[in-house]
Amino acid sequence: MQTSFTPAQLSDPHVAESEKILRRCVHCGFCTATCPTYVTLGNELDSPRGRIYLIKDMLENDRPADREVVTHIDRCLSCLACTTTCPSGVDYMHLIDHARVHIEQTYRRPLADRLIRSLLAAVLPYPARFRAALALARVARPLAPLLRRAAPLAPLAAMLDLAPRHAAKRPERAVPPDSALTRGRVILLEGCAQPTLDPGINAATVRLLTRFGVAIATPKGEGCCGALVHHMGREQQALAFARRNIDVWMREIDAGGIDAILITASGCGTTIKDYGHMLRLDPLYAEKAAKISALAQDITEYLATLHLEALPKRDLVVAYHSACSLQHGQKITALPKLLLKTAGFTVRDPAEGHLCCGSAGTYNILQPDISATLRRRKVKNIEATKPDVIAAGNIGCLTQIASATAIPIVHTVELLDWAYGGPKPLKLNS
Ligand code: SF4
Ligand code: SF4
Repeated sequence: MQTSFTPAQLSDPHVAESEKILRRCVHCGFCTATCPTYVTLGNELDSPRGRIYLIKDMLENDRPADREVVTHIDRCLSCLACTTTCPSGVDYMHLIDHARVHIEQTYRRPLADRLIRSLLAAVLPYPARFRAALALARVARPLAPLLRRAAPLAPLAAMLDLAPRHAAKRPERAVPPDSALTRGRVILLEGCAQPTLDPGINAATVRLLTRFGVAIATPKGEGCCGALVHHMGREQQALAFARRNIDVWMREIDAGGIDAILITASGCGTTIKDYGHMLRLDPLYAEKAAKISALAQDITEYLATLHLEALPKRDLVVAYHSACSLQHGQKITALPKLLLKTAGFTVRDPAEGHLCCGSAGTYNILQPDISATLRRRKVKNIEATKPDVIAAGNIGCLTQIASATAIPIVHTVELLDWAYGGPKPLKLNS
């Protein structure tokens, strides 16, 4: 694609990077076929190619974002199916990240939208606030139908719908002393929303890792990875979260030696693997951020290095839902299924596995209609495989899919923990 940025514009490193990305696009349109919003809405402006044109036009003309651009960029899930499909290697992720920051800096959203986004950014990344908000949502749930009738308040109704009906029980974590664990030493990201919504995931991870001799460092002070606010264009808040985590983890790395930073929520993993890029222009953090990104691994990547023994077949069919952040963001596709099969499960692939379930961070709150359409499509495809249980590697997908099916859904690592000697996941008992 030809571009016509001026030298002055290109002196801004963010614009210079976007220009390079834009120039790779050859307009072929292959990406439209796998884009969930184009497939759902059928509008070229809701396809990757259409959005690329909108972003190019906005940046080239130094224009503030307008309503049309914001509408179509907001509808993008950042699922990155387009990057998997694109034959030309267009780095759509960093282009849309830049566009979201530009929108945040140049566009004044309607009041209700501003308030809801501020509320999400002030609550979701902070576990104590998020726990309080979920307790409130359980009480306020009957108001959801009323809120849905007023369009600007529909996101609040979506929030109430998505809130789990019961508070998650916090399981005990018995971690053996480091001296008993010699196979490796890792940091396990605790995160923000996941331990509030489902603390059983990291508890299963700790059990599984320690059973195989891996020590887990628990550095104090880490928190949200920044993904949720990063996808809302709130770059300074996202970078502050990233710097805080980098400081905490670097202290641990320097003190004790760490083989990997493990992440059980693939949405967070994609962002932490991108810290090196996000902070590349920060002279104080660029090197440290690149080191952290190089150490970051999805839990399934690390488990694969442990060469877990093959177990006899068990009578349980698992539909594996491949989270977009895992399959498109991190290009991890076969590994989780291979681990499940090695552990004895029968694994089935739902049709249209490349399409997003509609969760996508805060998307299911901010774009409830498109999100609900994608969720229906996803659940129909999953249920068609007639599984006993659904497995996925991202808390957003787990929450989204659970809200629309009676089939139990658990994190991949919970099934692996069970297979290798841990307790049966609670959701399979009910
Ligand atoms: S990130 Fe997903 S929703 Fe956005 S343009 Fe690409 S394929 Fe479409
Ligand atoms: S597939 Fe890639 S090169 Fe083709 S239109 Fe989409 S982004 Fe551009």
